[in-house]
Amino acid sequence: MTEDWQRIQSRRVLVAAGLAAELPDVPGLKERWGHEVLHWRHTHRWEARDLAIAVVGSFRQALLFRQLTEKLTLILRGADDLSMGQRAQLTGLGVRILEGEIGGLEIDSHGQLAGAHLTSNTQVPAQRLVISPRVMACVDFLNGLGVSIRPHPTEASEQVAVDSSGFTGVSGVWAAGSVSDVLASAPVAAAAGSAAATAINLDLLVCDHTSIAAAPPTTGGFSGAMEAEVTRRVLGPRIHGLETILSRGNGSPTLPADLHKGDQPELPG
Ligand SMILES: Cc1cc2nc3c(=O)[nH]c(=O)nc-3n(C[C@H](O)[C@H](O)[C@H](O)COP(=O)(O)OP(=O)(O)OC[C@H]3O[C@@H](n4cnc5c(N)ncnc54)[C@H](O)[C@@H]3O)c2cc1C
Repeated sequence: MTEDWQRIQSRRVLVAAGLAAELPDVPGLKERWGHEVLHWRHTHRWEARDLAIAVVGSFRQALLFRQLTEKLTLILRGADDLSMGQRAQLTGLGVRILEGEIGGLEIDSHGQLAGAHLTSNTQVPAQRLVISPRVMACVDFLNGLGVSIRPHPTEASEQVAVDSSGFTGVSGVWAAGSVSDVLASAPVAAAAGSAAATAINLDLLVCDHTSIAAAPPTTGGFSGAMEAEVTRRVLGPRIHGLETILSRGNGSPTLPADLHKGDQPELPG
């Protein structure tokens, strides 16, 4: 069913509705998501090289972005922690480490992201802000179908559970792309779509051939043509019917006089 209540019928469904990120409630952040506010796992990191970057997250996220820039700040929230060794390693790499929550964004006179400030009012220079929001598969519209949603093994996220072909386990329903793999990049999502398309095509083929095999035979069983042939053989010249009546030539729809004599049928040869 579409948003405007159009009903679309389909023999199979491939769900590719992607993810929704639960973004922090910081004014202006949502509008910059995907451009200046990034997810640490996604791959447009190269465009951020040499810029001032603030990473809200963990040791490994800081290491990843340290590959790109020397102007890096790691913001640790209450639950995040670093071992002494990790802290020493990041400090040795020139990473500034702060603790706190993002309170707001700083925008320059050109409307570009210039930084963030923490709720403690500490200023953090940042042309890119990297966050790790919880991302959830957009599958509310599948409620009631029985599709399984599972937590991701490493991320604080949820995705549709599928097998290697994208099959959800619910008859006729496949899922592909980030809806079933929250870490999928675009090529990985496209490959999953291709695998699911192949599986759906095969499933339809098997289904169609099974229907054909199960259909009543059109030869070798009882049919109209066979009935006509048996009748012709059994009754011979005594065959009756509309054609016989009309062929008597007088146009009168009377029954043939020799009908129902009870003679034994003569089968040829
Ligand atoms: C911020 C960000 C940056 C990224 N950068 C990169 C990158 O640089 N390189 C890279 O390879 N990958 C990147 N990715 C990942 C990439 O975007 C995904 O791998 C890819 O978009 C997944 O494709 P998809 O078709 O599964 O989902 P999507 O591209 O999310 O498409 C899902 C579509 O379904 C629609 N939809 C949802 N619900 C419904 C509904 N109920 N009815 C109808 N339509 C619906 C959505 O509107 C959307 O158009 C990035 C992701 C994010 C979030």
